[in-house]
Amino acid sequence: MKVLVINAGSSSLKYQLIDMEDESVKAKGLCERIGISGSKLTHKVPGLDDYVVEEDMPTHQKAIELVLAALVDKDHGVVASVDEIDAVGHRVLHGGPTYTGSIKVNDDVKRVIRECFDLGPLHNPANLMGIEACEAAMPGKANVAVFDTSFGMGLEPYAYRYAIPEEYYEKYSIRRYGFHGTSHMFVSGEMIRFANLPEGHQKVIVCHLGNGSSISASISGKAVDTSMGLTPLEGLVMGTRSGDLDPAVVQFICDHENISVDEMLTILNKKSGVYALSGNLSSDFRDLSSAAESGNEKAQLALDAFAHKVVKTIGGYLGVLNGADAIAFTGGIGENDTAMRAKIMKHFEYAGIKLDPERNKVRGKASKISTDDSTVGVYVLPTNEELAIARETVRLA
Ligand code: ADP
Repeated sequence: MKVLVINAGSSSLKYQLIDMEDESVKAKGLCERIGISGSKLTHKVPGLDDYVVEEDMPTHQKAIELVLAALVDKDHGVVASVDEIDAVGHRVLHGGPTYTGSIKVNDDVKRVIRECFDLGPLHNPANLMGIEACEAAMPGKANVAVFDTSFGMGLEPYAYRYAIPEEYYEKYSIRRYGFHGTSHMFVSGEMIRFANLPEGHQKVIVCHLGNGSSISASISGKAVDTSMGLTPLEGLVMGTRSGDLDPAVVQFICDHENISVDEMLTILNKKSGVYALSGNLSSDFRDLSSAAESGNEKAQLALDAFAHKVVKTIGGYLGVLNGADAIAFTGGIGENDTAMRAKIMKHFEYAGIKLDPERNKVRGKASKISTDDSTVGVYVLPTNEELAIARETVRLA
């Protein structure tokens, strides 16, 4: 069975064609500048040179048509015809309070995705365009929606409710949803398999640390807590997102700078985080680490503040879970930043959780990084959201 995985953004569309026999990626690629001049498709097939198509893509529909043409192209294609694609899996940001899991797309599902436009204004409209483009280009094929919020829908009310008047929850479904759900679902499941955690000992903390960062606590793959909230702005200090802050900060700055709440939210999403703390130096941890090593105090502050919040969150989740059976690091920083992992985990030596400095040199590869006598196993486990979406698609299609 071959599954096409689609991640549609407002002006971009990423795809992978995965052969589910061996879960191998047959081809993957990216359409850029959809709806803007200078659109481009870059199609990658393992072992072949990149195939670049520079052709106008005024709509997502056109982008999907070019993707399908590339997949069947006689020189760069990987299937003889579109009929070989059995189903399509779509990443969808927000499923609102309706969906606790992935679902095969029908008119009702599309209505809910549309109703969630105000909860995911940047992503949901694009996600729906991706689905409708596939429906038009491949009529009759199953489309499956995999929501970034469904993992967080497993939380209990005491974890997902904000302590604000009930009417806002009742009227607008204002609650914590959590994001990176597909990654947390995938990595918590892989963690159980990789470490062979037996039933009754499957309490896992997943640290997804990348440009956007979040941490989840789960038991046997079911979420118990997760650090993002109504939107991905809550929780950890991130690349350009502030993470948690006192809401009064918003009012204060809006009043004193005479800006709107909308403008303030853009600042909190795009101009804050380690980027802001480093004095607008960079949101990339490689830049921050090398600047800090050369004595840049602001870069050091950014790294310290990031680690501090991660430590507080892991510490909190160790309490929430009443002890963990495994801690997994994933995402660009989690998989690669060996110094950051050591800096974070140093704080848990009091509890007998210890990294092995040699093992902790690993980058981007599933591996145990704690000592054999560590009270909790600590691991690096690369995330693979596309594969998680493809597996969900097989399950439902
Ligand atoms: P996204 O949230 O956009 O998917 P990623 O998970 O790809 O982000 O993470 C991107 C971040 O990972 C980069 O901004 C960079 O800070 C960090 N990163 C990637 N490789 C390394 C590395 N070798 N050392 C330190 N940080 C790294």
